[in-house]
Amino acid sequence: MSQLAAAHQAINLGQGFPDDRGPDVVLRCAAEALLTGSNQYPSMWGLPILRQAIAAHEQRFYGLEIDWTSEVLVTSGATEALAACLLALLEPGDEVVLFQPAYDAYAPLVRRAGGTPHFVTLSPPGWRLEEADLAAAFNDKTRAVILNNPLNPAGKVFEAAELDLLARWIERYDAVAICDEVYEHIVYSGGSHVPLLARPGMATRSLKIGSAGKTFSLTGWKVGMVVGHAELLRPVAKAHQFLTFTTPPNLQAAVALGLGLPDEYFADVAREMERRRERLASGLAALGFDVLPARGTYFLNMDVRSTGFAGSDVAYCQHLIERVGVAAIPVSAFFESSPVSHLVRFCFAKQDAVIDEAIQRLTAAYR
Ligand code: PMP
Repeated sequence: MSQLAAAHQAINLGQGFPDDRGPDVVLRCAAEALLTGSNQYPSMWGLPILRQAIAAHEQRFYGLEIDWTSEVLVTSGATEALAACLLALLEPGDEVVLFQPAYDAYAPLVRRAGGTPHFVTLSPPGWRLEEADLAAAFNDKTRAVILNNPLNPAGKVFEAAELDLLARWIERYDAVAICDEVYEHIVYSGGSHVPLLARPGMATRSLKIGSAGKTFSLTGWKVGMVVGHAELLRPVAKAHQFLTFTTPPNLQAAVALGLGLPDEYFADVAREMERRRERLASGLAALGFDVLPARGTYFLNMDVRSTGFAGSDVAYCQHLIERVGVAAIPVSAFFESSPVSHLVRFCFAKQDAVIDEAIQRLTAAYR
């Protein structure tokens, strides 16, 4: 879609990353650390200062008591964290429960690690976890679950009751949860992020993955982290040893500083993204288009049918680029089977002028 968007000079609300610069103090810290700090291999587990900052962050936001020496691992992005967790935990034949719509890295990584994905399909607009679906998905071969919360592309934030339901099935089948929580700080008013790790019974069964790329709008840095019980994390660190071993030390130092920013910084990130969500959502709603609720992430789903378009989401995205000059992503791309094919995903983590131009183009095409 991005190639097609470039060819048609479309406004790209397809690509899932912000066009912000990231916090100045964090950028300056990285620059300073590059010039004055060590640029040799840091500890395989991550710079102590960053691991301490991650443990303090988990305590501050979720009340979790994390031992930074044995329960925190720094990775080169959340993607490496996911790969390391799967390579560490899976044996050939193990099944992994995935929820679709699913982030595109999950199924290939599960398969490459020797596992078999078992998909549970969530349905719009609520995308709720249902007991019957979990009952059908879990069995004696289930080794792990990957839960993305808040959920890309749906903008869903799972409630504590849903997490507890999932936790019961994880415990019943002696499985573990790999929790992709990269959007933990992008949760909107009225909601709050609850890590599965913080729910009863999950402390020894969950690995919580974060990404500085999302929290600080610095996606190119690829600084990720895994937090979890020492026994669960130890094999993950061994996998990490042969994947990347480490992550640039100046970026680690800067992320440590970032994680220590006052509460206000984190509240502002969510507030600013919520403002942009409203900007895009109200523009689409004014055209009579149906927009699904987005309680977290920087993605908004729109029902293609409400535009009068009769084809699939893929065909609509092509139409939107070629005829309207705006790029989105078809939500069916996040399904492996029986896709929901009437939704498209817009990324609103963009400057006001970019969002406004997209709305203007849509208005010109539909008014
Ligand atoms: N998980 C999800 C759900 C994502 O949306 C993304 C980024 N698009 C990632 C993981 C990857 O994060 P990172 O860049 O830190 O590898």
